[in-house]
Amino acid sequence: MLVDSHCHLNYKGLAEQQDEVLARARERGVTAMLNIATRESEWDEVLAAAEANDDVWASVGIHPHDADQHPDVDTAKLIQRAAHPRVIGIGETGLDYYYDKSDRTRQQDSFRRHIHAAQATGLPVIVHMRDAEADTLALLGEEMARASFPGVIHCFTASDAFARKALDIGLYISISGIVTFKNATDLQATAKWLPRERLLVETDAPFLAPVPHRGKTGEPAFVADTLAFLADLRDEDPDALAAATSANFYSLFNKAAA
Ligand SMILES: [Zn+2]
Ligand SMILES: [Zn+2]
Repeated sequence: MLVDSHCHLNYKGLAEQQDEVLARARERGVTAMLNIATRESEWDEVLAAAEANDDVWASVGIHPHDADQHPDVDTAKLIQRAAHPRVIGIGETGLDYYYDKSDRTRQQDSFRRHIHAAQATGLPVIVHMRDAEADTLALLGEEMARASFPGVIHCFTASDAFARKALDIGLYISISGIVTFKNATDLQATAKWLPRERLLVETDAPFLAPVPHRGKTGEPAFVADTLAFLADLRDEDPDALAAATSANFYSLFNKAAA
């Protein structure tokens, strides 16, 4: 059992060869993939892959980069689309102050709308965060105090302190292929101590292909390489870690387990 908790099967590089991509993932033992939405225009496509394949699930959401373009995607719209039986998460959403592609206030508003949908549906919120640790924690904490909700920090690259606070409020942490990069020493240090029961793995494909595939188009099959690296780093048995991260996926995204 091995789960890719975050990929974009509809993105260029994967969409043109989706059947082959899925076949290669299955060959390497990937038993489930979560296909993540980033814009309203791709919701149908993302969901279509999940409807056509038992091992593909879908999310519904707007990436922080695209918050400016979606002023009309409100909580009600997210809740409505999340009712589909193949939609198991809300996102990706969050704050990205590194690229600042959308106005920060709009990113925060959009993030809140997604969290409100998570609170209403019980589905986990998939959080993208870059260079926005303080605001992300403040917003998550405030909303968590209003009504608790499940969630994951995807493609984790933040500080140890951020990881501790995210864990404290009950969130999971997902590690991408970045952990295999030679210069990712801080992330490797964090990935060593993260509690196994809160750990997920992902590719964020087509981005971030791990060693030994760097420079290639990322695909869900490569989550096996990231898992193997992580097991070695943490001095754990790879099969046991694969089983644990898969079990964590189903505890968090429990609509997929039902
Ligand atoms: Zn992201
Ligand atoms: Zn993503």
